[in-house]
Amino acid sequence: MTTPTIPDTPAASRRVNVRTPEVMDRVQAQVEEHYRSPLVETIRERGGVFTVGNTTLRLARDFGFCYGVERAIDLAYAARKVFADRRVFLLGEIIHNPEVNRQLADMGVISIPVGKHEQEVAKLTCEDVVIVPAFGAETKLMDLISSRGCLVVDTTCGDVMSVWKRVRGYAKQGFTSIIHGKAVHEETRATSSRALGDDGTGHFLVVLTLADVDYVCDYIRRGGDKAEFLKRFPSNARSAGFDPELHLRKVGVANQTTMLKSETEEIQRRVLKAIEDRDGGDRSNFQVFDTICGATQERQDALFDMLRHKMDLLLVVGGYNSSNTTHLVEIGEQRLPTFFIRDAGCITSLEQIVHFDLHSKSETTSYSAKLAGGESVVVGITAGASCPNNLIEDTIRRVFKLRGIDEAAVMRAATRQGSVSS
Ligand code: SF4
Repeated sequence: MTTPTIPDTPAASRRVNVRTPEVMDRVQAQVEEHYRSPLVETIRERGGVFTVGNTTLRLARDFGFCYGVERAIDLAYAARKVFADRRVFLLGEIIHNPEVNRQLADMGVISIPVGKHEQEVAKLTCEDVVIVPAFGAETKLMDLISSRGCLVVDTTCGDVMSVWKRVRGYAKQGFTSIIHGKAVHEETRATSSRALGDDGTGHFLVVLTLADVDYVCDYIRRGGDKAEFLKRFPSNARSAGFDPELHLRKVGVANQTTMLKSETEEIQRRVLKAIEDRDGGDRSNFQVFDTICGATQERQDALFDMLRHKMDLLLVVGGYNSSNTTHLVEIGEQRLPTFFIRDAGCITSLEQIVHFDLHSKSETTSYSAKLAGGESVVVGITAGASCPNNLIEDTIRRVFKLRGIDEAAVMRAATRQGSVSS
């Protein structure tokens, strides 16, 4: 096997390219074995609508693994193969899907829990390999990894890095980054650290809700109680030394790549209006760059398109901590009964679906009259960018099975126009 070149600089960044053609051939075979679904591919080729008996499944035009996630998984699998004789660590989760993380754990990749990154990385040696997930990592953590001399396999998505470029640019020009995102999310933490700029003197503020933004806009227009402001935004949602009197003068808006597009656009509009109101119509103290990634937007757009069709219920499959999946659920539940399920096992029976309730932020069990009824039903299915196709296939098979449609009938229907092997 071709061994990639391993940099021998002890403390400098020891990033290693594990994507040799030979390794990638083996990685592809394993990734397909773990996550591919011929059934899903066939349904997609046939336009996404699949009817057997009295049950119709409608798949969104775009769902499931995005290019960034595919690349991150490929690199993580390649790292395991190339460094078969070394300890391979992962910062938290490679992506927010429990099935994918379980597969990596089964392959011997050791996940370092998010709250213990610095503590655990400080114990690593130059013999160890560290995989940086698709969300990226904070600059101080990357510096610590470098100082330990670890080999680094960096899977950070290019779309995340373009947000970093943008917020670094804001800092360079003396603009504070207002970041629409979740302050605790790995990607937003990584982005916030870049908003400090190359010399560390920049500032950022993370806003999540429209209420947060309105509060900030009020402050921009009229000023307010500084102590109250600082209390409202916890320390992980603002840069050290953030002073609303000083650091809301010039602002640039950016966002976590996986937010709800319509909400992000509204935030951009409200902040711009506040700056214009304060500065007599002058926009020079405002900058904006839409950093919703293409994959997130495509999945949201595809769901809006799918919602034009009549459906009785919607299943959204994915990890409960997946940001882009969460927003698909938000879109769906405004129109029809929507269930955010981790996998097919959540559909425990025709009557009961275990699902994540975004409002109570907990897993709950609900009754689904539509699925349980004997009459015809149309079930919509979509999934976030971190959900593999095999989990979609499991969900499809589960729905048909519970509706009393046997496996053979499903496969016959699938092969009538496509070629599917189980
Ligand atoms: S969801 Fe977007 S930012 Fe995240 S990995 Fe996929 S393409 Fe990259």
